[in-house]
Amino acid sequence: MSKSEVRLAVPNKGRLSEKAVEVLRRAGIRLDYSNERKLFATALGGGLKVLFLRAADIPEFVSDGIVDAGITGYDLVAEQDRPVELLSDLGFGKCRLVVAVPSEAPYAKAADLPAGTKVATSFPNVSRAWFRDQGLDVRIVPVSGATEVTPHIGLAEAIVDLVSTGSTLAMNNMRELDGILASSARLIANAAALKDPEKGPRLLELRFALDSVVAAEGKRYLLADVPEEALEEIRQFLPGIAGPTVVDIAGSDGMVAIQVVVDEEDIYGAVNRLKALGAKGILVVPIDRMVP
Ligand code: AMP
Repeated sequence: MSKSEVRLAVPNKGRLSEKAVEVLRRAGIRLDYSNERKLFATALGGGLKVLFLRAADIPEFVSDGIVDAGITGYDLVAEQDRPVELLSDLGFGKCRLVVAVPSEAPYAKAADLPAGTKVATSFPNVSRAWFRDQGLDVRIVPVSGATEVTPHIGLAEAIVDLVSTGSTLAMNNMRELDGILASSARLIANAAALKDPEKGPRLLELRFALDSVVAAEGKRYLLADVPEEALEEIRQFLPGIAGPTVVDIAGSDGMVAIQVVVDEEDIYGAVNRLKALGAKGILVVPIDRMVP
């Protein structure tokens, strides 16, 4: 192992795994799997070693310095409550930890739960702390999965579980009472590794690279040749980062080329307006990274 090799833990399966690898790929970090079982990979000419581990174990491994950094859910970082440095919000894996009860239960919010209510959850630490902060006296029942069925089998009267769309709750005939925590995937790092003269700068480089991928999320690059006299109007609906870049087209009468970053949801309307203003050769291309 080279001394300055940075070790990054990435979820080996589940919801966060594919997206984490995708963010690395967009950052220009191509993984080279030389082992058959895909337990680890190397990248950046051996300067980065990626280890595939359970998302729930990653905060502990980062905290203990088994790895220098990791990508995992903020909910898991909060539950483990290990000292780690939170470097970046990677924007994917968005979900919320909520208190929920069977739809027919006569409660409107968590404060209505009677003292001693049994609350099943695979997030006992975060839940216990939240109910305590709210001054609510409940009994936390730790479970390791299938939390949403526990009220239906008499194991608990309420649950604390992760939701994103809420459709799983509805499917299980449950209703949300209160939100406890908002979560998304994070880049976390070991504090000592961050201070290490060799690893520290490489971890900051990694953060910078991943941040530039997050900044490009939902953006497209639009290129078009437009009549020069339409530029002012175009600037009104295409402000881009700092207004469209305008380039003269050699030998072209009255046409200029524009290049501009546009939000994905504005592309449809922008292309139609450009076309109506006489634009030609319109190109919309994806952006992997935006480095300010
Ligand atoms: P896994 O159980 O390995 O699929 O990973 C679960 C992690 O994915 C959680 O700890 C969250 O950080 C994240 N996540 C995102 N949306 C959801 C959701 N709707 N339910 C559960 N986990 C979610």
